[in-house]
Amino acid sequence: MEKILVVEDNKTLAKLIAKKINLELGFEVEVAYSFLEAKLFLKRYSYFLTLVDLNLPDAPNGEIVDHILESGNHVIVLSGNIDKTFRANMLKKNIIDYVNKGGVDDINFIINTIARLKKNKEHKILVVDDSMVFRKQMQSMLENMFFKVITVAHGEEALGILNSVSDISLVLTDYHMPVMDGLELTTEIRKKYTKNDLTIITISGDNDDDTTAMFLKSGANDYIKKPFSKEEFSCRINNSIEALENIYTITNHANRDFLTGLYNRRYFFNNMFPYFEKAIADSEKFTIAVIDIDYFKKINDTYGHEIGDRVINNLADILRTNISQDDIVARFGGEEFCIVLKNITPEQALSRFEKIREKVQNTIVSLENEEKIKFTVSIGVLLHPEETLEESINQADMLLYNAKQNGRNRIEHN
Ligand code: GH3
Ligand code: MG
Ligand code: MG
Repeated sequence: MEKILVVEDNKTLAKLIAKKINLELGFEVEVAYSFLEAKLFLKRYSYFLTLVDLNLPDAPNGEIVDHILESGNHVIVLSGNIDKTFRANMLKKNIIDYVNKGGVDDINFIINTIARLKKNKEHKILVVDDSMVFRKQMQSMLENMFFKVITVAHGEEALGILNSVSDISLVLTDYHMPVMDGLELTTEIRKKYTKNDLTIITISGDNDDDTTAMFLKSGANDYIKKPFSKEEFSCRINNSIEALENIYTITNHANRDFLTGLYNRRYFFNNMFPYFEKAIADSEKFTIAVIDIDYFKKINDTYGHEIGDRVINNLADILRTNISQDDIVARFGGEEFCIVLKNITPEQALSRFEKIREKVQNTIVSLENEEKIKFTVSIGVLLHPEETLEESINQADMLLYNAKQNGRNRIEHN
């Protein structure tokens, strides 16, 4: 587990912060009450992050900050000191943020900041700028915010990267560059990626309002004017990333089943209609199967609905871990699931479903009262598709019905 170091001589406050971080974010937290103690901790471990008080008994004026930065750890400064010049000088150092620590709101702010940094690790940012000095500066600031960073020198190179790296969240582009400038780049990117897929922020010394408007109209999400403060920069970047995450969450809610986190029926059909047509046209072999838990009503009646839900989740996990990346598994409703195995021969498909059937049969769901539940599934496997997707699903349903009629815990196929 990743660790966070809190250096703070106010013991009550230190413990409060440590406890909140541990409970809400799941980090292991260590607390040092002095500079000396902190030094000992830093010799032994490397931390995800350190939170440091500037006024320690053995380091009353923030002397600890440089020491921690030199040790290669990230620093968030906790301070009661609101002197403007002192704060500005601190912010010139490579710290992540300078935050107050007194009240409940301050502590919540700290928690949110750490949660943000943790999520930033999942995001890749592409920096596009012809000036190497500026590229390095951007890279260092973004890495200090825990982002993964790729840098390139002009728009055409950026398009190349976007083609080969699929999961870039944000493009941060300069305006004036050789080969392809920031505006052309923005226009090109927007032909392929919407604001729901990818955020674009322009950063430029061009201070004329028309330029800003032009970028925003071409699809940029934001425009940062040089010179800018480090705090403005990090707030704008973080806000954009947060907006992108919110869009993702909403889309995900619409496409996922609430109980199992698997895709829902709606997503299944949206995804499958185009795939079905194309696979038939290209003669790609694929298999559609419908899976249903046997005597599920009895499980509900005997153990209650909640345990029934747990059994459904158990099956969902088995299905999830026994398909390949491009395959689809969706919960159609109740205890019925639909699976499509793509690019697979009938023989391979059958053996995969046989494996799934056996895994379920051998699974034991343990209850709190030590009781153990076992369950089985029946599967209708359509190895040779019908003319349309609907007909194919109907046919798979028929095969499932046959499997139930023929005794359950078995597979029927065409
Ligand atoms: P068979 O072997 O023929 O499939 O019998 P079965 O009892 O599994 O089938 P049936 O369709 O009669 O029962 C399904 C039950 O699943 C009925 C319904 O109350 C229950 N159910 C539907 N959705 C949920 C759910 O989300 N959670 C739980 N726990 N039960 C659900
Ligand atoms: Mg330039
Ligand atoms: Mg059933």
